[in-house]
Amino acid sequence: MGAESDHFDLVVIGAGSGGLAAAKRAASHGARVAVVEGDRVGGTCVIRGCVPKKLLVYGSAYRHLLADAASYGWSVGESRCDPGRLLAAVRAEVDRLNGLHIGFLERAGVELVTGWGRFLDAHHVEVSRRDGSRRVLHGARVLIAAGGRPHRPAIPGAELGWVSDDMFLLEDLPQRVLIVGGGFIACEFACILHGLGVVVDQFVRGDHLLRGFDMELSDVVREGMEAAGINLHFAQTLTAISGQPGDLIATTSDGLQEPCGGVLLATGRKPFLAGLELAAAGVHIAAERIPVDGDQRTNVPHIFAVGDITDRINLTPVAVDEGRAFADSLYGGRPRQVDHDLVASAVFSQPELATVGLSEEQALARYGPDGVRLYRARFRSMAQALPQSGPRCLLKLVVEVASGRVLGCHMVGEHAAEIIQMAAIAIGMGATKADFDRTMALHPTVSEEFVTMPE
Ligand code: FAD
Repeated sequence: MGAESDHFDLVVIGAGSGGLAAAKRAASHGARVAVVEGDRVGGTCVIRGCVPKKLLVYGSAYRHLLADAASYGWSVGESRCDPGRLLAAVRAEVDRLNGLHIGFLERAGVELVTGWGRFLDAHHVEVSRRDGSRRVLHGARVLIAAGGRPHRPAIPGAELGWVSDDMFLLEDLPQRVLIVGGGFIACEFACILHGLGVVVDQFVRGDHLLRGFDMELSDVVREGMEAAGINLHFAQTLTAISGQPGDLIATTSDGLQEPCGGVLLATGRKPFLAGLELAAAGVHIAAERIPVDGDQRTNVPHIFAVGDITDRINLTPVAVDEGRAFADSLYGGRPRQVDHDLVASAVFSQPELATVGLSEEQALARYGPDGVRLYRARFRSMAQALPQSGPRCLLKLVVEVASGRVLGCHMVGEHAAEIIQMAAIAIGMGATKADFDRTMALHPTVSEEFVTMPE
């Protein structure tokens, strides 16, 4: 089936974080590689995730900086953000990165095959192009790196709401937006939109934000968001959306009718299985994801999967490392498994949260109340001393009593993600509380509090 030119050592489905990393690394080891992409090269992270999101976070943070500037002697006059200009600038940067990634593939010698891929059998992937033409690729091995996509709740009018993908395509922002969800994407967009001057109401089904993160930290984020003026509604959700785009009425579970210019449904993501026709290849699905072993192998020995499609730790660096480990193991003669322990993560809310290791709740469940000791520093950072306002910081260490080992290092506050990235090295090396204490403080900083917490 197919011409000689359609035979590859490796066919990768999906040119996102995991697929690009695997394809380029396999090609660098001498493999003949094709990568199939139905949308834009770069995937979620580059096109509709981490990158444009972080640019919007930077853009929205000017609100606080401008508000505090007067206390440092600046006269900034009246300032106003034009969200349309910001969104257009972010799209231009995404276009640039998209072009860069296409260039990286070319330079790596990977063939980019544009179109949606589906399995015909365990070795053949048919690619349907936008012009209706089709091409069949044969892969000695196939890597599924098809990622995930937002999940819309089953409520009447859900199609009138936005999902996170849509936010990056907007030309302008309305005056009021309702957000459904309490996870990291919901919180980040609540802060972005609020920073850009939108009135934000966030509806959370449970009784706290950021389920799965250390609860004390998520409470500090909540405090900061509420103090900034974001309206948080707990134990509430939306049951219906009606109206016209830009002029919507949302019904809350309390029966209220809320007018707004937009509704963001940030109610989770699911692996992007649709259209892959995995059954034709005999690839098993369990709990709406593709299960793999420690070598990223599915139940079919020559078919592998990495990244969000496997729904393990859905973060870009994890997908990249899984892709590279796969390629190094199978094409580079350097077998390696990915360590999914101690993966640092952040929520780019305002205030920012970052974390590595066990939360207080996880440590207590594993070691019991006598096995864990907690250390905290709660304060207003020096940057907020002159404005005398703004969110407080919380720095927290979770320590195993028996060994003194730091099990978890957590922070809410300025530069939390940058600080925890470095702390993750120490935690990964098994640092103890005594190692932290022995480290000379770098003064005046926020993170010095991590090495000066009294015994
Ligand atoms: P993706 O990057 O999603 O790539 C999958 C690709 O496969 C897509 O391009 C898709 O079009 C393509 N595809 C799917 N099916 C087919 C098919 N049948 N044929 C051809 N192509 C197909 N992670 C972080 O680490 N830090 C962050 O700050 C962060 N922020 C985020 C913010 C948002 C709003 C979102 C949505 C995600 C964020 N993430 C963040 C998560 C991160 O983007 C994902 O974990 C990462 O992109 C997963 O990489 P992947 O390779 O598994 O999939």
